[in-house]
Amino acid sequence: MIFLATFFVFLFGLAIGSFLNVVIYRYNTGRGVGGRSGCMNCGKTLEWYELFPVVSFLVQRARCRNCSSKLSWQYPAVEFLTACLFTATFLKFSDQALGLGAYFSFFIMLVSWCLLVVILVYDFRHKIIPDALAYSFAALGLVRILLFVPTTPAFIFYGTLLAGPILFLPFYLLWFVSDGRWIGLGDGKLALGIGWMLGLGFGISAIVLAFWIGAAASIGYMLAARLKSKGKNLTMKSEIPFAPYLILGFTIVYFLSIDVMGVYTIFHL
Ligand SMILES: [Zn+2]
Repeated sequence: MIFLATFFVFLFGLAIGSFLNVVIYRYNTGRGVGGRSGCMNCGKTLEWYELFPVVSFLVQRARCRNCSSKLSWQYPAVEFLTACLFTATFLKFSDQALGLGAYFSFFIMLVSWCLLVVILVYDFRHKIIPDALAYSFAALGLVRILLFVPTTPAFIFYGTLLAGPILFLPFYLLWFVSDGRWIGLGDGKLALGIGWMLGLGFGISAIVLAFWIGAAASIGYMLAARLKSKGKNLTMKSEIPFAPYLILGFTIVYFLSIDVMGVYTIFHL
């Protein structure tokens, strides 16, 4: 039974991922999300049998059936990623007592993953985090906190409420001190939501993980670039998108409850 349900959640995630691809491409272009998708190159409207997530992409060997132009790997990647996140969240919730609060917070998580997937790809492509998406994620975090007010001791409630602003603050300072050159304020807005979603202890854990992974990736990237262009001077690019690392840190901590700094263990916040 649980296997069948998990399978359906995975298919549902694929379908939603397919929709997110449309959102990512049409966001801020003035086009609505209605209407059937077409090829980006020749504009041919896709047939119904070309609209199956992942499968169509593989069957067509990553090419348009009409003009044979290459299709972006972003399509199946976003679909598969969304499906995995939905499935993992379903499994995380499936061994909990199912109250109304759990249903709400499951739904909040699914919507949150949608926002984060769009932010992730959007930041990769345009190096900017749309405000509306970051604030929506933060708002969902607040709603989640309020859901658990009746069952949460007061000091944990206030600690979680403060977690958002506390995590936002260092990003704001970095942004303020560097005049926006080191880091965009969008990353801070994302950290606000991460604090409200995870609470203070796990929130700090997610941000620290993001910095570690981001630093490791930057060093790797710089070494690779240095090997390619022998002798030329390279400094750290200021425009490395940081949102993907924040989202990765959030995802790891959300599913694995990793407490790198021991804050949660010590203070239970
Ligand atoms: Zn085409």
